[in-house]
Amino acid sequence: VAAPTRLEDLSIRQPRIKAPRRLEPLASTSTHDRAFHSYGSSYRDVVRGFRGEFDCPPDVVFYPTSEEEIEAILDWCQSARIAAIPYGGGTSVVGGVEAPRDNDWAGVVSIDMSGFGRVLEVDRDSVAARMQAGITGPALEADLRSYGLTLRHYPQSFEYSTVGGWLATRAGGHFATLHTHIDDFVESIRAITPTGVWQSRRLPASGAGPSPDRLLIGSEGILGVITEAWLRVQPVPAYRASASVAFDSFEDGWHAVREVAQSYLWPSNLRLLDAREAALTAGQNGHVALLLLGFESCDQSVEPQIKRAVEVCAGHGGRLLSGIRSQERDGGSEANENAQAFRSAFFQAPYIRDTLVAAGILTETFETVITWDRFEEFHAQISHRAAQAVAQTCGDGCVMCRLTHVYPDGAAPYYTVLCPARRGSELSQWDTVKQAVSEAIVESGGTITHHHAVGRDHRRWYDRQRPDPFARSLQAAKQALDPSGVLNPGVLIDHVSSTQPPQR
Ligand SMILES: Cc1cc2nc3c(=O)[nH]c(=O)nc-3n(C[C@H](O)[C@H](O)[C@H](O)COP(=O)(O)OP(=O)(O)OC[C@H]3O[C@@H](n4cnc5c(N)ncnc54)[C@H](O)[C@@H]3O)c2cc1C
Repeated sequence: VAAPTRLEDLSIRQPRIKAPRRLEPLASTSTHDRAFHSYGSSYRDVVRGFRGEFDCPPDVVFYPTSEEEIEAILDWCQSARIAAIPYGGGTSVVGGVEAPRDNDWAGVVSIDMSGFGRVLEVDRDSVAARMQAGITGPALEADLRSYGLTLRHYPQSFEYSTVGGWLATRAGGHFATLHTHIDDFVESIRAITPTGVWQSRRLPASGAGPSPDRLLIGSEGILGVITEAWLRVQPVPAYRASASVAFDSFEDGWHAVREVAQSYLWPSNLRLLDAREAALTAGQNGHVALLLLGFESCDQSVEPQIKRAVEVCAGHGGRLLSGIRSQERDGGSEANENAQAFRSAFFQAPYIRDTLVAAGILTETFETVITWDRFEEFHAQISHRAAQAVAQTCGDGCVMCRLTHVYPDGAAPYYTVLCPARRGSELSQWDTVKQAVSEAIVESGGTITHHHAVGRDHRRWYDRQRPDPFARSLQAAKQALDPSGVLNPGVLIDHVSSTQPPQR
C-alpha cells in the first residue's frame, strides 16, 4: 500500500499573477488552496494528487460572497487575460475544474462558490425554493427539512457537490425514472456573465422560444457563473415501499425493467445490478442479477404500484427476495436489507476510491444511455470492448454494469471497471481503457455521458456526437457572453481568442 504525498512536501510553481488590491481580501495563494482547486475527483485526479503532481495549479483561488465580487473578478480576468474557472464542490470526474495548459493566459484563477451556501426563500404556495449555487447537498436538504420539504436530488457525490455544479453539469440524481436530471426541477436561473447579469423569468413552464435556462443548464462554467436558482421542491415523501427482485440473468432483468418503465408506474428506484455488481455492492452470491425497486409518495400508499411492478418482474422470472417493505407516515423502515446494503455501498464508494488508488487498483466508470431497440447489441459491444481493454492493458480485472436510470424508450447502463494497476503506469493504463470504451460508446450510437458531463476528458467524443451547426451556435453564444473567452477555456468548445473571428 502506497502513501500519498504530504502537503508539507509539495512544491508547486509560484503564482504568476497577483490579485489587485480590491480583490485581495477574497484571494488565497496558499499551497493547500491552490492544490485543492487543481483537480476534480476522477481516478486520474486522485492518482495525480496522490503522487503530488500539481504541475498546473490555479495561481489564485477566490472566495467571493457577493455577485459584485464575482463581477469584479471577471472584470479583472478580462482586462488581464486571465482564465477563470467556476468551482462548486470539485467533484467533477471529467476534468471540468482543471486549469487550461495552453500559453494563451497570463494566469488562471479558481472561483470557489462556497460563500454562496444558503437557501434564500421558500415559496410554499408553489412548492419551490430559491437557493444559492454554492450550497452542498446535505446543507440544502437540512435547510429544506425545516420547511418539511426536500429536493430529492441525490447524485452519488451528494455530500460535496453543489447546486451550481449540478446545474452546470446537468447532474443525474435520485429518481431512476421521470425526474432523472436536475433539469426537471428548474424554474429559473441567475448567473453573472462577463457581459452582464443573466436572470430568467421564474415560471413553471413557457413556450416562448428556446429556453434561456436550457442554455445555462449543462454550460459547465463556460458562459457564466451561476449564483442562484429557483428549483421545484416537494414535501418529504410519507409513503414508501421497496423490494428486491432476483433474476437468473441480467437479460431477464432488463426485459422486466423495460416493461415496468413502459407501464408508466414511475418507480423512484429501478436500479438493476448485474451479478458481479450485485455481489460486490448488495451482498448477493454472484449468480443472480438484482433489481432494487422503490416507490414513494407524499400523498398515498404506493403498495398497489409496487405490487404491480413485482408482478411484471415475475412475468420475466423475477423472484421477490424477503417480501415488500412499506413505510406509511413515520412508522417502520421502508428499505429492505439489499437496498440498504446497496445504498450504503453507493454512498461509501467515493471514499473507498482513495484506498483503491493506495492499494494499486485501477478503477473507472463509464455511463451512457441508449434506446431499447439498440440496447442488447450496444450492451454486448461495450461489455466486450471494456473487458478486452482491461485484459490487454492490465492483464486481469473485471467489468460490471448496472442500469442507473430507466426511460420508457431506453436505459442508462453504468459500467464499472476494476483492475490491477502497474505502479507508475496508472495514468497510461487509465487512458488506454478510457479511450477504448469511450470510442465503443460513441461508435455504437450512445452518448459519451448520461450525467457525468463533458469537461476536458470527454471533449473529443462530445465533438463527434453533437451536430456542427449546434457547435457553431454554442461558439456564438460564448462569443456574445464571454467575448474574451476567459471562462473555463477548453471545456465544451475550443477557446477562440478574441482576435479570431467566430467560425462560419
Ligand atoms: C464519487 C462520485 C460520484 C458521482 N456521482 C454522480 C452522480 O450520481 N450523478 C451525477 O450527475 N454526477 C455524479 N458525479 C459527478 C459530479 O459530482 C457532478 O458532475 C456534479 O454535478 C458536480 O458538482 P460540483 O459542485 O462538485 O461541481 P464542480 O466539480 O466544482 O464543477 C463541475 C463543472 O461545473 C462548473 N461549475 C461549478 N459550479 C458552477 C457555478 N456556480 N456556475 C457555473 N459553473 C459552475 C465547473 O466549472 C465545472 O465545469 C460524481 C462524482 C464523484 C466523484
